[in-house]
Amino acid sequence: MRSYRIAAMGGDGIGPEVISAGVEVLKACAERDGGFQLDFTDFDWGSDYYRKHGVMMPADGADQLRAFDAILFGAVGAPDIPDHVTLWGLRLAICQPLDQYANVRPTRVLPGITSPLRNVSGPELDWVIVRENSEGEYSGVGGRAHRGLPIEVAQDVSIMTRAGVQRIMRYAFRLAQSRPRKLLTVVTKSNAQRHAMVMWDEIAAEIATEFPDVTWDKMLVDAMTMRMVIKPATIDTIVASNLHADILSDLAAALAGSLGIAPTANINPERDTPSMFEPIHGSAFDITGKGIANPIATFWTASMMLDHLGEPNAAQRLMRAIEHTTANPNLHTPDLGGPATTRQVTDAVCEALRMAND
Ligand code: NAD
Ligand code: MN
Repeated sequence: MRSYRIAAMGGDGIGPEVISAGVEVLKACAERDGGFQLDFTDFDWGSDYYRKHGVMMPADGADQLRAFDAILFGAVGAPDIPDHVTLWGLRLAICQPLDQYANVRPTRVLPGITSPLRNVSGPELDWVIVRENSEGEYSGVGGRAHRGLPIEVAQDVSIMTRAGVQRIMRYAFRLAQSRPRKLLTVVTKSNAQRHAMVMWDEIAAEIATEFPDVTWDKMLVDAMTMRMVIKPATIDTIVASNLHADILSDLAAALAGSLGIAPTANINPERDTPSMFEPIHGSAFDITGKGIANPIATFWTASMMLDHLGEPNAAQRLMRAIEHTTANPNLHTPDLGGPATTRQVTDAVCEALRMAND
């Protein structure tokens, strides 16, 4: 039987709640499928680990993860630890060394869920955002000098490399090509950021020649936020830099109904290291421990993980079970305006998997 080793890392806040729900649903997927098994290993890295050891994960953490086929990740962030420490100490400390350079964020309005946009019910909003996940504004280069003095200077340097932009652009064009409409919008701020972003536009035009069947256009990021709200049906696949796509995808998640349903995958397309799958949301301190975290984002990313592992049938079966569950408003968690708990949504998805008759 095919067998996959999965590293499960809940992290902070509601992270462990949604990851344990995700592990349960993935086990139900494997059981229903019968063709593969999943072998989970839990990791306790995150803010509690930091309070004990002064670091978010061991120094060889990323290397320990290389032995796995995929990583399922919850969220990091705690009220008493600065956000840049938790982000750089865990999430980016995994994504960057494992070269998960393509961050893929599908956005759709699932059955039963209401978009805050008028006249948008489903087919009008079906996007995939591809975020450059290894460099750009999150290169980590920068510094502060003369702290506290009137002459204090602080800088974060955005670094883009030709090879880095080429590989994300090629990934985005290939993804656009695989979708029915074959449309790609290349987002920049190349009027203001006149070095790196101009190179980004030039490389987009070069890579486009390899994909003559993909229709593509360019858009400035500020104009793109308007287009997402006003003309959502004109958009299909989007590629943008690390920072721009981070912001666009929170907007996309809100337009699709809730941050609680939005998934993401940190992909290494060359597959020589494991990819990492996570909900887009953070640790949500305001609802931690209440049992009402929406697990749908984690289930959706679990479906992306199954697809990436080479189990497309199980991935689609899970997606149908999710849609069957969201179609029932009584199974919506409070972020979607419903009465359901994490437990009830998890049970419903597991039940839908058991009942699946494909
Ligand atoms: P957040 O995503 O944690 O929460 C934003 C709002 O959405 C909150 O009201 C929360 O209750 C709600 N929400 C989020 N996920 C939900 C879910 N599954 N079900 C129901 N409601 C949900 O963002 P924030 O409040 O800006 O950040 C909180 C912490 O999380 C910070 O420390 C931040 O740095 C961190 N964070 C981490 C990640 C990550 O690990 N990838 C992402 C974003 C934020
Ligand atoms: Mn974000």
